[in-house]
Amino acid sequence: ATQIVLASRPKGTPTQENFRFEKTTLPALQDGQVLLEPVYFSVDPYMRGRMNDAKSYVPPYQVDAPIAGAVVAKVKESKSPLLQPDDMVLGLLPWASQSIAPADQLQKIDTDLAPASYYLGILGMPGLTAYFGLLDIGKPKAGETVVVSGAAGAVGLVVGQLAKIQGCRVVGLAGSDEKVSLLKKEFGYNEVINYKTAGNLDAALKAACPDGVDVYFDNVGGEITDAVIRNINFHARIVLCGQIALYNEAEPAPGPRFLPIILTRSALIQGFIVSNFSKRFPEGMQQLANWVKEGKLHYQETVIEGFEKLPEAFLGLFTGENKGKMLVKV
Ligand code: NDP
Repeated sequence: ATQIVLASRPKGTPTQENFRFEKTTLPALQDGQVLLEPVYFSVDPYMRGRMNDAKSYVPPYQVDAPIAGAVVAKVKESKSPLLQPDDMVLGLLPWASQSIAPADQLQKIDTDLAPASYYLGILGMPGLTAYFGLLDIGKPKAGETVVVSGAAGAVGLVVGQLAKIQGCRVVGLAGSDEKVSLLKKEFGYNEVINYKTAGNLDAALKAACPDGVDVYFDNVGGEITDAVIRNINFHARIVLCGQIALYNEAEPAPGPRFLPIILTRSALIQGFIVSNFSKRFPEGMQQLANWVKEGKLHYQETVIEGFEKLPEAFLGLFTGENKGKMLVKV
């Protein structure tokens, strides 16, 4: 098999040089294990944190060891009663052209209910992040204004639509005119700001949110977040989901600069990790699957073909190459 290992830890923005392709020989299959052939690899922003040698909620990747992440794979051979050949499974697996895993650490997926790739996106970690982050922490009420940064990404696309289902006015921020028109035409956003060309973000937000901001779902952080927070209303809720604009910063920026506004507007700011809600994942998946089936939730993914494109696809998250969920298909 071929695997992709962490060749070196990035300083600042990662590059192709931080990855290396290697040939490996798989050991013989043991009882309880299955041989897997990956179909879809997920690339996710949190993987950037795992490339650092830093303590976090997931352990760092080791130099010279394979990168790993969420994968949808097909069972080729099984030495477990839990899985049969041709079953499709979801697992945390190495970036490898074939791999071996214990069957009891894999989740069998139902590809009659939804296409296999959905389990890495709208019915998987990003969809659940949007669901619990917006509904449990943001608590949007009908008529309120919800602002979403990273609006055209895997999480952001779902957040905006969930806010529409709740009867809110939804305003997004995204990095290209193509994304702006996609969000307005296909995903029901009321207004979308291209943060790269808007110039004065403060003024653009004031124009897009004449009644101020009641809920801010933050996927990016940095200057976008500074500008949104200047426009929050009394008792606003700020859902701190991601800070992708800062993940490649070698030195943390001074701040936060917005605490006086949080104070005077009596706002709530709360960070979260989707796994905090793991006990309620079945509820979230069921609800999201129903809305997809009823046509209330639309979906979009950017699928790049070829195992060898994995590093490129991952790096593309930081330059905004994706519309919706970024995936690599083998
Ligand atoms: P996305 O699909 O949104 O991909 C990343 C997007 O971020 C890019 O497409 C790009 O879009 C935007 N982006 C990249 N760099 C910058 C920048 N410097 N400034 C502004 N925007 C930028 O990824 P996900 O939906 O998977 O994740 C979104 C966020 O949610 C991430 O921060 C991630 O870490 C976080 N997350 C948190 C979870 C949790 O449990 N708390 C779980 C899952 C994700 P554009 O063209 O608009 O710039």
